[in-house]
Amino acid sequence: MEVKTHFDKLARKLYGRPINQCTTQELYHVVLQLTKDAMTEKKYNEGEKKIYYISAEFLIGKLLSNNLINLGLYDEVENILKENGKSLTEIENEEPEPSLGNGGLGRLAACFMDSIATLGLPGCGIGLNYHYGLFHQVFKDYLQNAEKDKWIEKDSWLKKTDVTFDVKFGDRTLKSVMYDIDVTGYDSGMNKLHLFDVETLDESLVKEGITFDKTAIDKNLTLFLYPDDSDENGNLLRIYQEYFMVSNGAQLIIKDMKEQGYDLHEMHKHVAIQINDTHPTMVIPELIRILTQEEEFTMDDAIEVVSKTCAYTNHTILAEALETWPLAYLEKVVPVLVPIIKELANRIKKAHKDNEKVWIIDDDKRVHMAFIDIHYGYSVNGVAAIHTEILKNTELHDFYVLYPEKFNNKTNGITFRRWLLECNRPLAKLLDETIGTSYRKNADDLEKLLEYVNDEEVLGKIRAIKDQKKVELVKVIKDREGIELDPNSIFDVQVKRLHEYKRQQMNALYIIHKYLEIKAGKKPKRPITCIFGAKAAPAYVIARDIIHLLLVLQHIVNNDPEVSPYLKVVMVTNYNVDYAEKLIPACDVSEQISLASKEASGTSNMKFMLNGAVTLGTDDGANVEIHELVGDDNIYIFGVDSDTVINHYKKADYVSKDYYKKSAVIKEAVDFIVSKEALAVGHKENLERLYKELLNKDWFMTLLDLEDYIEKKDKIFEDFENQDKWKKMMLVNIAKAGFFSSDRTIADYNKDIWKLK
Ligand SMILES: *Cc1c(COP(=O)(O)O)cnc(C)c1O
Repeated sequence: MEVKTHFDKLARKLYGRPINQCTTQELYHVVLQLTKDAMTEKKYNEGEKKIYYISAEFLIGKLLSNNLINLGLYDEVENILKENGKSLTEIENEEPEPSLGNGGLGRLAACFMDSIATLGLPGCGIGLNYHYGLFHQVFKDYLQNAEKDKWIEKDSWLKKTDVTFDVKFGDRTLKSVMYDIDVTGYDSGMNKLHLFDVETLDESLVKEGITFDKTAIDKNLTLFLYPDDSDENGNLLRIYQEYFMVSNGAQLIIKDMKEQGYDLHEMHKHVAIQINDTHPTMVIPELIRILTQEEEFTMDDAIEVVSKTCAYTNHTILAEALETWPLAYLEKVVPVLVPIIKELANRIKKAHKDNEKVWIIDDDKRVHMAFIDIHYGYSVNGVAAIHTEILKNTELHDFYVLYPEKFNNKTNGITFRRWLLECNRPLAKLLDETIGTSYRKNADDLEKLLEYVNDEEVLGKIRAIKDQKKVELVKVIKDREGIELDPNSIFDVQVKRLHEYKRQQMNALYIIHKYLEIKAGKKPKRPITCIFGAKAAPAYVIARDIIHLLLVLQHIVNNDPEVSPYLKVVMVTNYNVDYAEKLIPACDVSEQISLASKEASGTSNMKFMLNGAVTLGTDDGANVEIHELVGDDNIYIFGVDSDTVINHYKKADYVSKDYYKKSAVIKEAVDFIVSKEALAVGHKENLERLYKELLNKDWFMTLLDLEDYIEKKDKIFEDFENQDKWKKMMLVNIAKAGFFSSDRTIADYNKDIWKLK
């Protein structure tokens, strides 16, 4: 049926009114249904071999516009609405954002789902259906408060299936319910994201904020992503969640194979399992358990076929993020797996008697989850070139010596559908008109834009689109945060999870430095707007203190009449995918300032680049590859390199106080944190703790790079005044972003790891 006719019929059927008389809310439901109907005409991707991507997070973002774009219906629906005096942008606002993820790793999984479907590969995602996600962030009294992030509505993308499995824990058996979300490919077939849940979940268990009874597993299992793990019950709950996810996944894989009539001994010919970080590791022993206990495999045969099926992606070298579980906890939660894990561990111990560093179970009887993946998977990949090299040469060196053939790099990517076609429609349109539409399917074709690097008209249009997006963002921030921004100022943006290694505190110290300079009469040529967005893990005290400092600075700077015409600070509330889609197209300077060696890849750096922002960053993660692609002239790199950082850690010779004492600029900025002015607004406890942390520990070496950072940042702001040069930098960044399409990343995973046809 013609879209227009169907649209009108649906409006009348659902609400008894024509389109122009429906409310925005009603129209949201009409367009939701319209899109779902269009999706029923799409086919699921099929083939001899299928990829199962298991992940604790899928940060998928809103789906309405995304699906409309992938179905090729966006423009038509937008026009029909316009004819009726309605706006699709307003209707999009009605959709709640699924809270199924937390940061880069979850967003990567979402981009991968899009690209796997788009490339026509048979595949699915496997995860959990968290009802309240990580948390919804609100600010009160300059502090982060966590509330539940409710997103599931009666009418949503979730489809309840009749698939159910029993999952046996030590003290109970839980029945699962499988929900599906259809993933549309761009101009291609569909795949499914399977999200497992429990029928017995009880949302009323959550009392205040995000606190709940951690022992009521039947009722709490899928309430939250990463529930507080600062006590034993929290740890046990996380193991319950992980096993529930992978046991359902394993049972689904076996069920699928049987339905297809495949021989389980040939699992690796029909199934590839990608283990996204260590959370799904237990899928390995779980599959081995099922094959040996329910399918009459010998242990050797089971280990062999599972090892040929499972591949592992490492996302971090931060020690605290590489999971290790006490064997005693596993005995409590999943006693059925413990004999298998012990068997796997014993085989390694026997084979590598004198290399304790590769043993799965250590002297403290802790199980190293990543080590299971490496020994019993066939592929280990890092997520950017530098990260993979660090894994091979340093963090996982002993494993690399054992299995050099398993290690490979797959530099992360982002889906251009969401991060260009959807979030920056004017830029996509300009590209269509300038270089044709082939870049939409073949991202490398963006390089054709380089031919226009001296074309005043194209350069002017790129600038105009950026300015339009800045005006749009100003309105969003005014509405949501109540803060007025100047679209003619430079928009400097740092949005990402709050973590010391990402060094939002260094950015804060720059702001203090600038504030003091302006107070002393040294004014910047053009006003600067510093924008932040970040959630801190509720148990991460220093991260919350950094948010406190940023909110205190926001208050001081914005309310100082001497300073605020030249400098503004905004910390946006509850940074998520929706906010990212509004912030990124409006950004001039992309802050990617992690301590070299610590950011595995980063993906927001890629989103910003694609949207014409210029990067101010360290040579870390994928910044290194951005740097190589755009060259020294189109990026601002500062700070010590990763080898220097790794050496400082090795020698334990970094002393932050030395840097504080040596430099008046550093001292002045750090001292401000506990100045009368700051304490008049903020809390002594938080500010003093942060001050002491920076002075006495500074584990992520903020002060080491601070002076270099200030210098480079002043330079990038100065260069903004040379718009002839700046516009060219914008163009080169856009033109060179093709490599970071997740279509390229997925094609590489498939070629080297999954080998689907
Ligand atoms: C891309 C993205 C991230 C990852 O950002 P990094 O800067 O790479 O850590 C986190 N959150 C959201 C909402 C994103 O869209």
